[in-house]
Amino acid sequence: MLTKSLIYTFFLSLIVVIGFIVYEMFFFFEGNTPEIKITNLPESIGEKYNFSCAVNEKETGLKKISIKIRQHEKDFPLFEKAYQRKSWRKGSDIYDENINIPLSIKEAGLKDGNATLLIKAWDFAWKNNGNGNLNEINQKISIDLMPPRISPNSKPLYLWQAGSGLISFEVSEPIKSGSVKSGDSLFALYPNPQKGKNNYISLFALPIGEPVPQEIFIEVEDKAGNKTTIPHRVFIKRRNFKKDIINLSENLLNTLSSKLYIKHPELKGSTPLEIFQKINSELRPQNDNALLTLSKNSSKEILWQDKFILLPNSSYKALFGDQRTYIYGKDKVDYTLHLGIDLASNQNAPVPAANNGIVVFTGYLGIYGETVVLDHGMGLFSSYSHLSSIKVNKGDRLKKGDILGNTGTTGLAVGDHLHFAMMLNGHFVTPMEWIDEKWIKDHITTQM
Ligand SMILES: [Zn+2]
Repeated sequence: MLTKSLIYTFFLSLIVVIGFIVYEMFFFFEGNTPEIKITNLPESIGEKYNFSCAVNEKETGLKKISIKIRQHEKDFPLFEKAYQRKSWRKGSDIYDENINIPLSIKEAGLKDGNATLLIKAWDFAWKNNGNGNLNEINQKISIDLMPPRISPNSKPLYLWQAGSGLISFEVSEPIKSGSVKSGDSLFALYPNPQKGKNNYISLFALPIGEPVPQEIFIEVEDKAGNKTTIPHRVFIKRRNFKKDIINLSENLLNTLSSKLYIKHPELKGSTPLEIFQKINSELRPQNDNALLTLSKNSSKEILWQDKFILLPNSSYKALFGDQRTYIYGKDKVDYTLHLGIDLASNQNAPVPAANNGIVVFTGYLGIYGETVVLDHGMGLFSSYSHLSSIKVNKGDRLKKGDILGNTGTTGLAVGDHLHFAMMLNGHFVTPMEWIDEKWIKDHITTQM
């Protein structure tokens, strides 16, 4: 009985031991190679390259990693590491390695052209005569150390202060990003619809209130991060802006403050003059910023055609850039810059879209009252303010002349009129250029 039970126990133990050995052998002889993942590989690599990769081994741990770049049969080592075996079963006990190598391509001795990134990783499994499982990646890379060349197509640019301009140029290779810099402001680039690939145009503004620049700059960055900036000479004529003195009567202050007070109850408790000053110092910049922010995100195509049109049968009540000083009693109490043109016709006159465009805003906008904003593409926008009614919806595509609403006195307006403004990529520009057929031909169409 006893021997039988002993034999039984012996065989059971033997099965357990063999099972355990087989289980351990599976680990030791596992055939899974370490995983290699390159986490930063641009289309082409420039002077500065931050190489990064993740190596992951699930079973026997990492044994060795070797990374180099091979170019013209020459090897440039980036990383080499061997790991110690800690235990029979767990190998090195290190399963993950995240490698980050900031690299100066020139200092590394690499040249323009193709190269191969060679990454090898071994584990501690008993494979390949004890060398371990090997994963090997041969990744073709392209090294580009040449900055892009910019060739302007535009003739010399003769422009007006607070106006718009267009610059057209060709780049020697595809770009990742770029802009035109006018003063302190950057303007977006768009593919030139009239020329082949790598040709760009930018509509830019000479922002009102900023010093008149002598040059504007074209800046581009290629896909490898090489940057080029070139200056482009501009000849800018100064404008004389009208200086207006506006006497604020009790009556006018009461009318204006009571109109804005209804929509802005936070103004409660202030005198009509204080309300007027708060409107100009707080609400006006907010409303201007809202319009300018809208004009930073534009359709990539030119939607407009030929000259822009104004409110029909209207007369100018105020112009772009008018400098208004407000007098109360004998004191100068406020100052504003008029950033559009005011046009008056009949009461509630129908307002046509100045050109083809997409409605990007409709609704109440503080001092501007009920307002419609149109995107004309490539950063160019128009806005229509103080409307008594709005007849279009956000997203509508309008043709030049389509009626978008009616004039009125909403917002900070006394008599019925249209405040018409134009914005270019985050700046107000004078609309007077865009209603001038000849200006458009000389400064936009023939410059493309
Ligand atoms: Zn106005």
